[in-house]
Amino acid sequence: MFENLSERLSGVFDRLTKQGALSEDDVKTALREVRVALLEADVSLPVARAFIKRVQDRATGQAVTKSVTPGQQVVKIVHDALVETLTGDEDPGKLKIDNPPAPILMVGLQGGGKTTTTAKLAKRLAEREGKKVLMASLDVYRPAAMDQLAILGTQIGVDTLPIVPGQKPVDIARRAKQQATMGGYDVYMLDTAGRLHIDETLMQEVEDVRNVVTPRETLLVVDGLTGQVAVEVAEEFDAKIGISGVVLTRMDGDGRGGAALSMRAVTGKPIRFVGLGEKMEALETFEPDRIAGRILG
Ligand code: GDP
Repeated sequence: MFENLSERLSGVFDRLTKQGALSEDDVKTALREVRVALLEADVSLPVARAFIKRVQDRATGQAVTKSVTPGQQVVKIVHDALVETLTGDEDPGKLKIDNPPAPILMVGLQGGGKTTTTAKLAKRLAEREGKKVLMASLDVYRPAAMDQLAILGTQIGVDTLPIVPGQKPVDIARRAKQQATMGGYDVYMLDTAGRLHIDETLMQEVEDVRNVVTPRETLLVVDGLTGQVAVEVAEEFDAKIGISGVVLTRMDGDGRGGAALSMRAVTGKPIRFVGLGEKMEALETFEPDRIAGRILG
């Protein structure tokens, strides 16, 4: 779908004679192409600009390696800088779930993949870390969503909190906490209700739940294909609720993954996992290297 950036740059640099070091003009030409690639990958303009500026200083004056073209060399420098930007101090796959029962709050807009991701993550914690996990749906507006979580629970062999019609989200959260404590669970995951758009009622509801359970992790689940919108959603949730990490879903799609770079640069929040399909196994720990390669194409 997109032309490969390395090929595009090789074309540009074919005309240039090899010099001892990357000249300022070489770098500028290459970075113009890189900027286009970043924008095509849905990285926001301010983030792309700031990023390019940083890379420019680093690339200028670098000795040209014989085995690669100057274009490829700049791509390598950009790739490494992308990985650095996307890599934080934290280990993305390691959630703070000591001191059982540890509450994990799952938040996000409707349709972003929250319920699916809750179940995927529960399965992962149960199977890979041997945790005893309880899941509870707080979506009192959509009984189908509650049923969906229960069905997924049965499918993956993870317990769900029994559904009691008519309860408010905070009451369900209290009940989940109680059951998790009494039942000796390591983790309890709260799948909050989403809306099509962020509104006050949604935020207030999630805030109330947060205050009741004091989550160890608050994970925002967003559709990675929505690019800039995903970043705006993250900013709003972080401002109001405070998030500890992000799960980008639908990264199995056609998107180039630029949302990941903007997400990290704008919110400073780590991307913990990526969703790579509808199946329960389709959740992977975030890997900066893979996303960097994908952004550059
Ligand atoms: P929620 O409203 O946020 O709880 O969203 P759901 O979990 O119900 O997911 C909405 C749809 O997206 C479902 O059909 C899921 O199977 C699908 N979905 C969720 N995550 C992914 C993903 O990583 N890749 C793909 N292709 N589909 C996903």
